Amino acid sequence: MLEIRGLDVKYGGVHALRGLDLTVGEGEIVALLGNNGAGKTTTLSAVSGLVRPTGGRIVCRSQDITRMAPPKIVAAGVVHVPEGRRVFSTLTVHENLLIGGYLVRDGAELARRIDGIYELLPRLDERRAQQGGTLSGGEQQMLAIARALVARPDLLMLDEPSMGLAPIMVAAVMEVIRDINRGGTAVLLVEQNATAALKIAHRGYVIENGEKTLEGTAAELSIDTRVVEAYLGGA
Ligand code: ATP
Repeated sequence: MLEIRGLDVKYGGVHALRGLDLTVGEGEIVALLGNNGAGKTTTLSAVSGLVRPTGGRIVCRSQDITRMAPPKIVAAGVVHVPEGRRVFSTLTVHENLLIGGYLVRDGAELARRIDGIYELLPRLDERRAQQGGTLSGGEQQMLAIARALVARPDLLMLDEPSMGLAPIMVAAVMEVIRDINRGGTAVLLVEQNATAALKIAHRGYVIENGEKTLEGTAAELSIDTRVVEAYLGGA
């Protein structure tokens, strides 16, 4: 599905990624873990074309997307939900979803897709006419994810969806991600909340200072002492 080989990104003097290798298989949820500044967001931004790599290759379903423009990368099936739930606060839930469908020319098709999303997320269905900015934090995160789903991505990349949410909302958002994945969408999930991420992920990677330091199945990482000590809150 996604293959990243030898990815290198520099921001001026800052070497943010150093030869990163990472893959996401069809139908997988892959967690990308690491401390602040490790290079997680940079990885997603490089895949979605927002940051230009200084080296390496990014291939999605045998298509080289390394230097494609961001809208072409979306059209190739890769959608990035950035950190911070950037919903349009003065637009309604429904209008936010329509914006997510800007590449869908056929109005009837767009309406079908949005109906499907309301079925998956009844909480948003009940709030179609509510302004985005008045939703709770968890609902805004669901809306940000829902807006990405309108593009029917093959690969959904989520940056810190649990950020700032109460534990019960974190669980609800993770459940939504799992449901989306069960529908066939592969997920690359950046999280500082390793506990929540490893509960739903199939595999994971740990990066530190722009380099991959660990990889394994979610079950392996959950019991790895280095992961437990550094990311799962204790020995
Ligand atoms: P966090 O969890 O804090 O968001 P992260 O793992 O997502 O961290 P990145 O945002 O990818 O980390 O940042 C990796 C490194 O690149 C950091 O040292 C950061 O300061 C640097 N960096 C990121 N974006 C820029 C930029 N636009 N200009 C200069 N340096 C940057």
